[in-house]
Amino acid sequence: MQTLDVAIVGGGPAGSSCAAFCALACLRTLVLEREKFPREKVCGDCLNPSCWPVLERLGVAQRVRDLPHSKLAAVEFLGIDGRKVIVDLPSGDDCELSVKRSLFDALLLKHARELGAHVREETTVTALAHDENWKIETASGESFFARTLIGADGRNSTVARLCNLLPRPARERVALQAHIPLPRNFGRRIVLQLLPEGYSGQAPVNETELNLCLVGAPPTISRLRQWAERHFEVPADQPWRTITPLTRLPVPCAHENLLFIGDAARVVEPFTGEGIYYALRSGELGANAIVKIIHGDDRKSALNEFTHAYAEMYRGRLWINRLARTAVLSPGVASLLVRLSPLSPMVMRLLTAKIAVPANDK
Ligand SMILES: Cc1cc2nc3c(=O)[nH]c(=O)nc-3n(C[C@H](O)[C@H](O)[C@H](O)COP(=O)(O)OP(=O)(O)OC[C@H]3O[C@@H](n4cnc5c(N)ncnc54)[C@H](O)[C@@H]3O)c2cc1C
Repeated sequence: MQTLDVAIVGGGPAGSSCAAFCALACLRTLVLEREKFPREKVCGDCLNPSCWPVLERLGVAQRVRDLPHSKLAAVEFLGIDGRKVIVDLPSGDDCELSVKRSLFDALLLKHARELGAHVREETTVTALAHDENWKIETASGESFFARTLIGADGRNSTVARLCNLLPRPARERVALQAHIPLPRNFGRRIVLQLLPEGYSGQAPVNETELNLCLVGAPPTISRLRQWAERHFEVPADQPWRTITPLTRLPVPCAHENLLFIGDAARVVEPFTGEGIYYALRSGELGANAIVKIIHGDDRKSALNEFTHAYAEMYRGRLWINRLARTAVLSPGVASLLVRLSPLSPMVMRLLTAKIAVPANDK
């Protein structure tokens, strides 16, 4: 059987971005994806403006803009007591945009395939062995061989688990997500609403649907769901998608012939809406490193460069994650922030600008 240059486990934004960049560099690239696309995913569906430069370099930005979407004009922070702070988002072509993950992820995976990556859907990786090359085994009993391996399989990464690298998750919270009918006059805004039991994120994803996310602790998540059923007149039999954990320690991103990218490497607080950017960009950085390794450049310096660029991607942004996490774990504190007028609009604007302004990552 042919030995591939790179096998990528997971065809979400991280895996597809990495596969597309590897294929662009003419590497023999394979993506193994558990699901059949298109598939939905627990996500707020919001594309941070930082994503655009990576999507441009991938050559897929216009096709993303052509998908059914909503252009988002503002973020509204709503405290427990109903007080709100509204912060405008950047406008124009590189604005914050929401698009269903079923559409976005399927487009990215298709793009990687068009650039020459081999993609196997409905293929779950279950075992790994490593000598000179990687042997990757799947649930259906197939085996693949590759010189390098990428773990792009999300927050509960099988690759990290099989390599004994997956940190024990803090199962302190759980997220629920559904697409529901768009309430009349909702407008082009993201609502981040703090509630006694956790928080809710809401954003229109097209002319008719609202993405509704709920984040809370397992014992109280059913109360959040009941709140949503009342507030949005959601029927009790509404199907909800669910995911956990929302927080865990990072997995070291670079190993000898193995890299981790996207959520598999590091999970960020959903409140900040930045996970897709980190997935796309780390996919690009991972591809740069793999191309160097396959072309025979010095492996150690390629891995050091990747680790450095990877850390750089988060520099100056992780404190916002920590702040967001502190705020959402104690909604009373966050509500106080919203209430501290006139200081809070300034603070909120600062935070939003930090999150929603394109990163300088070339
Ligand atoms: C409630 C919530 C709201 C969020 N809202 C936003 C938002 O609005 N904006 C934003 O930017 N980010 C948001 N995020 C974060 C964002 O969803 C993630 O950061 C992003 O999906 C990470 O992409 P990824 O490609 O690393 O992983 P994933 O998107 O999780 O993709 C991993 C892929 O790997 C596949 N896979 C898993 N195991 C295997 C296996 N064993 N074999 C083969 N394939 C496998 C899965 O099927 C999946 O397709 C949110 C997260 C949550 C929880």
